[in-house]
Amino acid sequence: MAKTIGVILSERISTGLVVDHKLVGPLRRFPDDHDDEDALIEMHTEGLVETICKQVIEVADGAKDLTAVGVALPGLVKNGVVEESPNLPQLKGARIAELLSAQMRSQGLEVPVTALNDADGMAAGLASAHGKLDSMIRVWTLGVGIGYGRYPFAPGVWEGGHTVVSLDDKERFCGCGGRGHMEGIMGHRAMRLRFLDMEPEEVFEAAKQGDPRCVEFKRLWHKALAAATSTTIHMAGPGKIFLSGFNVRFLDLPMLKDYLQQMVKMSPLQSYSLEIVEDNPEIRVIGAAVSAEQAAARETLTV
Ligand SMILES: [Zn+2]
Repeated sequence: MAKTIGVILSERISTGLVVDHKLVGPLRRFPDDHDDEDALIEMHTEGLVETICKQVIEVADGAKDLTAVGVALPGLVKNGVVEESPNLPQLKGARIAELLSAQMRSQGLEVPVTALNDADGMAAGLASAHGKLDSMIRVWTLGVGIGYGRYPFAPGVWEGGHTVVSLDDKERFCGCGGRGHMEGIMGHRAMRLRFLDMEPEEVFEAAKQGDPRCVEFKRLWHKALAAATSTTIHMAGPGKIFLSGFNVRFLDLPMLKDYLQQMVKMSPLQSYSLEIVEDNPEIRVIGAAVSAEQAAARETLTV
């Protein structure tokens, strides 16, 4: 019976105990109050590490038989080090897995800690929830930026949200500064930069009313998603592709499927399927825990 703890770090820290890939009991959250959403951004790495450890220890509730702890964070995470984290910039360069396991050890909890990208945690959670732990899952998270998660774990960078989907020199709204990126078209932040006079909600609403500039943008938005998805299909093969995040509300699935059909023409690659799923912290916590359990198993194999 694998007993693990999953932690997700976004606007809040949420922590849960996961036994045999199922959540046991409610999630513990910090801050409790929704009004306090900048609390984490203002916290130093040391404070974040202490807060995460405190939650893990509370959730563990004295259990000594934990297999692993998984911590999912926004940003580029490699070998336990946060290499880039635009949403929690104080974490850049932090050897987060090491810091966390040292802190837990000092509190009497000896357990391997895995740090992972939050979109990958989401993919692992969806794989677990949909009974697909033996197949390949990809998930696009359409939010402030564009997340790309994949399961199972494979070494690499996988910054799929920065897939180049346009060769137009004017496409430069991506948060990373790169030209022609998917996130520079689809990300919430990028849309606000493009339409300085309209909110993204108003743009998609105006597209429904037939406003030509907005209709054109709606098409571009869907083409960008189709193009990046088509690239992952051509690189990694067909399979299940989930769509999540608060901006799935703008999705016109028939339009997306139509563009995708025009972009993926090789018949062995056409067996892909798309599914819109709700983005919830429970799935992400399970995903972080499952990823950590698998990482701990890989460690044992190589030792
Ligand atoms: Zn970019």
